[in-house]
Amino acid sequence: MTTTRQPTPVPSGTGTVAPADSGTVNRAGTAAPAGTAAPAGTAGRPGLLEVDGLTVRFQLRDAVVQAVTDLNLTVHAGELLAVVGESGCGKSVLAHALLGLLPGNATLTGHARLRRPAGERVDLVASSERHLARAVRGRAVGLVPQSPATALNPVRTGRRLLEETLRAHGRTRREAPAAAERVAADVGLDPADLDRYPHELSGGMAQRLATALALAPDPPLLLADEPTTGLDRPLVDHTLDLLRRRCDAGGAVLLITHDLAAARRVADTVAVMYASRIVERRPTAELFAAPAHPYTAGLLDALPERAFRPVPGHPPMLTDLPPGCAFAPRCERATDVCRTPPTPPAGTPGRVACHHPLTLGAPA
Ligand code: SF4
Repeated sequence: MTTTRQPTPVPSGTGTVAPADSGTVNRAGTAAPAGTAAPAGTAGRPGLLEVDGLTVRFQLRDAVVQAVTDLNLTVHAGELLAVVGESGCGKSVLAHALLGLLPGNATLTGHARLRRPAGERVDLVASSERHLARAVRGRAVGLVPQSPATALNPVRTGRRLLEETLRAHGRTRREAPAAAERVAADVGLDPADLDRYPHELSGGMAQRLATALALAPDPPLLLADEPTTGLDRPLVDHTLDLLRRRCDAGGAVLLITHDLAAARRVADTVAVMYASRIVERRPTAELFAAPAHPYTAGLLDALPERAFRPVPGHPPMLTDLPPGCAFAPRCERATDVCRTPPTPPAGTPGRVACHHPLTLGAPA
């Protein structure tokens, strides 16, 4: 399936890979060993969202941006999947692609099948803009945008935005005010601040309001694109634990983050993205204990509590990806075979796109 979307405003913003610095919590929010296993009982169970071969290209005047390439992932009800990677690797484009929020020069191929409550599946890639707007965005799939300042209506107070959202999703005029204050309190926003306009909010307050707006309709799947931007550490943890509790209550969250601490704190599964592709996808505890892809190992080595050594070099331009493995120019394990694109090798633990994954020993 190939789809070219009509122009749509796109929240934007970037981040860089940040160090992990805190412990982890289990589903009850108490201290636990790093990472968590994938949710029990997901094996063989159909996912709430199944993404298959998703590819996004942006046509520029004299170049093509390879933003997302052949991406496969599954998110189950009750699961929190974190997609991590450096700025510009394509992880935010993924969220926008799923919701039909790409600009008009984007071409989208592949499938992203969302299971509806009645069990039928809808392919988000094949869906019309009308269907996405009426039945998907906000209702079936919520989005916490990366840049709330550009996503919030500037001529409405937070209270009005929240109450309108709640009423659009079934709350009565009488119920909406109290419900709005409850949702605000859930995200750590003082109800008194709801009477401010977006331009009167700090970055952190705008972020919490955007999160409240995404949570208010109680969508089965939440895409959270850097939801902790601008928050101090206690509010970061508060927001992350809120997302974790949604999953524990049966919801699903796809968390897009540059913050490895965030992924380690709450994710069941971590997918590492590099140069438009997912290069490793593993249960969180396994990935942090024994990364298999050299890039994943590099990200973990950059953590202060580990080697505190940055990944050498820079990511490639998505308009000029090298042939074969895109990580090769930065990889100490690269050999001639890395000039061909790696696919997940048979027998490799987890899903690792590398010719010489670390857990299989030294390069041949
Ligand atoms: S495929 Fe080769 S270059 Fe790429 S990460 Fe693996 S060892 Fe390094």
